[in-house]
Amino acid sequence: MFDIADRDIKFLPGVGPQRAALLEKELNIRTYRDLLYYFPYKYIDRSRLFQIRELVADMPYVQLSGEITSFETVGEGYQKRLVAHFTDGTGEIDLVWFKGLKYVTDRYKVHTPYVVFGKPSQYGTKINIAHPDLDAADKIVFSTMGMQPYYNTTEKMKRAGLNSRMMEKLTHALMEQLKEPLPETLPECVLKEHKLAPLMESLRTMHYPNSDESVRMARYRLKFEELFYVQLNILRYTHDRRRQRGGFVFPRVGELFNGFYHDHLPFALTNAQKRVLREIRQDMGSGKQMNRLLQGDVGSGKTMVALMSALLAVDNHFQVSIMAPTEILAEQHAETFAKQLEGLPVKCALLTGSVKGKKREAILKELAEGEIQILIGTHALLEDTVKFHNLGLVVIDEQHRFGVAQRARLWNKNVYAPHVLVMTATPIPRTLAMTLYGDLDVSVIDELPPGRKPVKTLHQYDAQRVSINRGIRQQIEQGRQVYVVYPLIKESEKIDLKNLEEGYRQMVEDFPDYEICMVHGKMTPAEKEAEMQRFANHETHIMVATTVIEVGVNVPNASVMVIENAERFGLSQLHQLRGRVGRGADQSYCILVTGYKLSEDTRKRIEIMTQTNDGFEIAEADLKLRGPGDLEGTQQSGLAFNLRIANLAKDGQLLAYVRDVAARIVEEDPDRNKPEYALAWSQLQKLRKNNVDWSSIS
Ligand code: ADP
Ligand code: MG
Repeated sequence: MFDIADRDIKFLPGVGPQRAALLEKELNIRTYRDLLYYFPYKYIDRSRLFQIRELVADMPYVQLSGEITSFETVGEGYQKRLVAHFTDGTGEIDLVWFKGLKYVTDRYKVHTPYVVFGKPSQYGTKINIAHPDLDAADKIVFSTMGMQPYYNTTEKMKRAGLNSRMMEKLTHALMEQLKEPLPETLPECVLKEHKLAPLMESLRTMHYPNSDESVRMARYRLKFEELFYVQLNILRYTHDRRRQRGGFVFPRVGELFNGFYHDHLPFALTNAQKRVLREIRQDMGSGKQMNRLLQGDVGSGKTMVALMSALLAVDNHFQVSIMAPTEILAEQHAETFAKQLEGLPVKCALLTGSVKGKKREAILKELAEGEIQILIGTHALLEDTVKFHNLGLVVIDEQHRFGVAQRARLWNKNVYAPHVLVMTATPIPRTLAMTLYGDLDVSVIDELPPGRKPVKTLHQYDAQRVSINRGIRQQIEQGRQVYVVYPLIKESEKIDLKNLEEGYRQMVEDFPDYEICMVHGKMTPAEKEAEMQRFANHETHIMVATTVIEVGVNVPNASVMVIENAERFGLSQLHQLRGRVGRGADQSYCILVTGYKLSEDTRKRIEIMTQTNDGFEIAEADLKLRGPGDLEGTQQSGLAFNLRIANLAKDGQLLAYVRDVAARIVEEDPDRNKPEYALAWSQLQKLRKNNVDWSSIS
């Protein structure tokens, strides 16, 4: 059956092909439904006009009708502002602008009737309204208007006449076209139990609300629905997987594990490491397939957990693969494993893209025969040519992008899916974890090995180079080493490389008596490796690098991390980079170097970095500052349906609530044949069909 909501937007009266193209390009609005779900960002209550003499400070938003008697510019520099004296016959107030002064004076005229909307506040002895909305009074018809919706539109749209007012007209036309209400998308019993407004009523209210309360109800219902289907989807998937697939049972803690624990372990495990290992052992002995996310800040000792989990698998005659995001990190893991496991009867091998020819063939053969027990490598391990004899455990390191879809590819490597342990130092806020990794159990290492001193973080400006260099010299004189990192953005790799090379030359000039090396992504793995090795051996004092060092290198003697152009890094990246120092017993420093001119957001980011070392706090702040859409992983995961109204940064509480609702339904109706939930399952089916990424999962 044809659904009118799917009709091309160009057929809507008042749109046509040109505006349709613009709507699609600017706002991704293609169909009637898209427009219906394009909600106003605010509403203005046009039902009441206030008089100026009634106003007191701290009133909520008010609407006034009157005229500007004169304009005046006051103050200097950043205090400079434009004041319009405004009267309605009952009194006078000041309208104030701090920005866009020219726009205002060009646009608004004295002695012309305007309707003003804004929030009164006290300024000295007077009441004023800063940055009010002004509308020509003759354009507003009070009798027909309650709350007026305001839609975000772009500059391009405004130039083509598609401003907020026009969007309002179009949604009006749309409502006329939708003679039949759209079918309900949530089951009756869910609506009733959670006191939710019906779909069509909610959509209508979003565009034509009659009170703040009705908007609140409508918004709640629509957010509820979005989050509900995201959760129903992921919980259904988890449920099925658990039901259909058993897991290998690793019943014994054998000689290898015990031998290592008693005779080889170079330090005492932290309590957090012990707890996590217990959780992992329990999972792997349960008969269910383990799917565990291990979160632990940089330097918290995740590698040791991976290694000991691997030994458990090998003790039970299974193979293990350890996947790292880069060759360098894979190589480092291989070295760590080789060193730690020296003298123990277990065979490890490294397989990356650079292992070729005869050597590769030999590894693949030994792997297929089960002779190699632990294989360490990069994504190359996922290729079809890599065949295991009996893969029992997969450890995925530092891969917060490894969502459900990617993990699903591992299922095909075996009859049973191997146990999976995903490790990440990028803490994931709870709300994101529930959507992105909603099917994973979570373990947390919330304790650093003893003796670590938290890294001290300072913010310095470019112009303070002399003092930055003095600090660097001091540290090197004390026998420490230093990283200097430059940002790298793919689109302009050439420019970035120039930055890096200039920075390198500058350092060579500033520190003629020290050895300085340079590492960047354009070098071959062998070249990079050689430079890293030199640094690790303390043959060089300063390493100038791009973010290639973000994950990987472990040089406990390095105590200073200078991050150049720190304004160009995101919070979690800054945190990751900072984690490269503070790995030894000495006090370490992270210097964030920026220019003087910083945006509000950047200032906040830098401030957060200087105030806390807590990865979870930083992740939450990151989510709030950037919004979830930008966070790595949400796009690729294929899990989050496009959220139009819910916001993972703000709606955490609702998300948790809705998750419980969805969980109960999955439990109550595992075979999906209860009539009361039929609508939920069919709606989910529909949503899944519209989301291509899903195909790789089921
Ligand atoms: P990450 O969690 O960032 O992967 P690593 O596993 O690389 O951290 O560990 C960082 C450093 O801490 C390594 O040098 C490792 O040997 C050391 N380490 C790990 N666990 C402990 C412990 N319990 N006691 C002391 N040092 C430890
Ligand atoms: Mg690690």
